Amino acid sequence: MTTATRIYNFSAGPAVLPAPVLEEAQRHLVALPGVGMSVMEISHRSKVFEDLLNEAVADIRALAKIPSNYKVLMLQGGASLQFSMVPMNLLAAGTVADYIDTGSWADKAIKEAKKIGTVNVTGSTKADNYNRIPAASEISLTPGAAYVHMTGNNTIEGTQWHSLPDVGGVPLVNDTSSEMFCRPLDVARFGLIYAGAQKNLGPSGITLVIVREDLLARSKDSLPTMLNYKVHAENGSLYNTPNTFGVYILGLTMKWLKSLGGLEGIGIVNERKAARLYAEIDRTGFYRGTAQKESRSLMNVTFRLGSEDLEKQFVKESTAAGLDGLKGHRAVGGMRASIYNAFPEEGVDALVEFMREFERKRG
Ligand SMILES: *Cc1c(COP(=O)(O)O)cnc(C)c1O
Repeated sequence: MTTATRIYNFSAGPAVLPAPVLEEAQRHLVALPGVGMSVMEISHRSKVFEDLLNEAVADIRALAKIPSNYKVLMLQGGASLQFSMVPMNLLAAGTVADYIDTGSWADKAIKEAKKIGTVNVTGSTKADNYNRIPAASEISLTPGAAYVHMTGNNTIEGTQWHSLPDVGGVPLVNDTSSEMFCRPLDVARFGLIYAGAQKNLGPSGITLVIVREDLLARSKDSLPTMLNYKVHAENGSLYNTPNTFGVYILGLTMKWLKSLGGLEGIGIVNERKAARLYAEIDRTGFYRGTAQKESRSLMNVTFRLGSEDLEKQFVKESTAAGLDGLKGHRAVGGMRASIYNAFPEEGVDALVEFMREFERKRG
């Protein structure tokens, strides 16, 4: 199969998809079995597509053990549109939303929310280049806030929340774009969870939103229809034409996750992959992790070398060795290895081996 010629893809997003998912999509691209047409050529109102969508949602519900009082939506516009939709739907005039500022994406969410309503920014770790998750003592919440917004995994800086902030009874909203389904999660702790699909769930063009039903009552009829959660919930994500091919690939990816033992299974693999890479980073001091240890991300591993020249050389040689996409985001510099669910363990071994060899030659 074509899998033999695939290189190791460390891209932060869109990111690597499971090879079995791509292979199945390839086998059935021209004609879905029993349908005789491509999934891209059938009506989104057809039984075939509705079944595909319903099955994907059912698998998501099963994987994350989603309580029955939550709706699962597949929207468009990326996580970036959620930066606007969350406040448009949940932040009424005269109320305040708390935003925890843990990175570049959190900062973008804050900027959009400020266009809609009143925002209290708290727990910012910006002064530390966002290299850590704030301590509970650094977060001051507004009594009776409309919601608290957090960013579960900070894709650019390589930090991740490993325990949730205590927000009392206030709805917690989580941007999980780069960590969704990387390990078990307790949906009941949240009012709303959203994630652009292209990092850990499937292809770009779908945003997964999980929202507690009582919050839908906040969505005003005066909102633009396409930006109204209640409309999408009432129409089962079929108010307009969804990204049908994306839903199909996401559905296959959920089946692949189930076959690995679900979120518990993938969580164990992700812990192992990250531990192996961080152990190499910490081994001698030749490499330096940029995130503080207790805040380190399982998904985006950021590290630097002794000089920018050395980093340039590292990028050049690793790319030539079939390890693609390791150049870090310009905001942080250095290296970033994104090792999402679909990133194979052998790829982490290959990177560790490359790092050792690079250090041996240049150290
Ligand atoms: C990638 C990313 C986004 C932006 O996602 P889009 O789907 O491109 O809008 C937002 N938040 C986080 C945490 C991300 O990693």
